[in-house]
Amino acid sequence: MRKLLGTTAEYAIRYLEGLDTRKVAPTAEAIANLTQFDEPLPNESVDPKLVLQLLDKVGSPASMAMAGSRFFGMVTGGSLPVALAANWLAAAWDQNSVLYRVTPGTAFVEQVALRWLLDILHLPAQCGGAFVTGATMANFTALAAARHAILQQEGWNVEADGLFGAPPITVAVSEEAHPSLLKALGLLGLGRSRVIKIPVDKQGRMRPEAIQLLTRPAIICTQVGNVNTGACDPVGEICDRAKVMGAWVHIDGAFGLWANAAPSLKHLTAGVEKANSWATDAHKWLNVPHDCGLAFVRDEWALQAAMAITADYLPTLSNQRNPSDYTPELSRRARGVEVWAVLRSLGRSGLADLIERTCHYARHFAKELKAAGYTILNDVELNQVLVSFGNAETTHQVIADLQAEGTCWCGGTVWQGQTAMRICVSSWATTDADVEKSLAVILRIANKYCSRQYQAA
Ligand SMILES: *Cc1c(COP(=O)(O)O)cnc(C)c1O
Repeated sequence: MRKLLGTTAEYAIRYLEGLDTRKVAPTAEAIANLTQFDEPLPNESVDPKLVLQLLDKVGSPASMAMAGSRFFGMVTGGSLPVALAANWLAAAWDQNSVLYRVTPGTAFVEQVALRWLLDILHLPAQCGGAFVTGATMANFTALAAARHAILQQEGWNVEADGLFGAPPITVAVSEEAHPSLLKALGLLGLGRSRVIKIPVDKQGRMRPEAIQLLTRPAIICTQVGNVNTGACDPVGEICDRAKVMGAWVHIDGAFGLWANAAPSLKHLTAGVEKANSWATDAHKWLNVPHDCGLAFVRDEWALQAAMAITADYLPTLSNQRNPSDYTPELSRRARGVEVWAVLRSLGRSGLADLIERTCHYARHFAKELKAAGYTILNDVELNQVLVSFGNAETTHQVIADLQAEGTCWCGGTVWQGQTAMRICVSSWATTDADVEKSLAVILRIANKYCSRQYQAA
């Protein structure tokens, strides 16, 4: 065992150290080599050492270098070394972090991590919280608590009696709601399409004055951190309006909520603490390994009422927090350990620095691309940059060439009808040098096409 785990740690360290000098995307050859995995299921056992050898030899090169410093796709933080190390140790513990009485260590560490999260994100200290797989499940979890609370006010127990015959719930979402939020609504029986869509401004921010009086019981789903522009809904104003209507306000802050931990960005998320529930991702801007999402609910009892189960074989202690009373899952790994480790290591100032530094890099990308004559489609307030290299075809071509060249990786999107390349900076590992190196390649590729365009004109 010692040899196997030691060797594997060496593979992992060598992999991470090699990220700087390899292409970000896996090469065609590495992808073709994946067929080496495509063998018949073995009948006999083999030495685990050989299994890990194969995994490293074929699997490592076929990975996308998301853990590296120049992956600017999706919203992907790398793993801080302290988070990865804590993840390794917690995996060795292999705690089924369900009940305090059975796994007190991880249950307690998660409790501390939750308290710190509420503190660093400036959310109400009395919130209940849950460690889940990602923002999709965090949206689901928080909205399940919402569904419970607002139907209970109408004298309806949704967990016991379901939605058939229940008072209808009005759900308002932004026109720019993330598709995963709509999916969560679908899973909850509230309907992906059975929603009132609130119009947005040019940056994708919900327009609060467009929220009409909603029939109770009602939920308003807002967003801080639009996945394209990074824009944040004016949540403070929305919460004030919702309060008058007696509506529950949920915030999808998958990455944007972390701005509330950074003094220079906090104005963007002003008023978030007024909401009823929140969803965010630790595997995005907190830079813990996938997967780790977080749900917070102001009324802890509503979250518990939606999630807790009891069974005679599950020993509980009524005076201790059982993680499974707050999560959709029963058996689960102790995700909170990595979160605790990052917060313990970075502290308030370290997290603020991580958030502010990555936003600074996004602004630098935007400034240089604009100076070179390209169009930035969004106000770069957070860590997202949308750049157009002229028409859709040229922009697609630049993205494809950039991905093939391999110095960095950016994806594409369509923002309000315009095709754009998305640059999202979320990793602790990104440095000034990474940004300069990436900019040089982006500009070299873009200039090639754009000077050709000028020649044709
Ligand atoms: C990423 C993202 C999600 C989905 O998060 P997962 O962790 O992939 O489930 C939801 N909402 C927003 C705004 C996001 O950026």
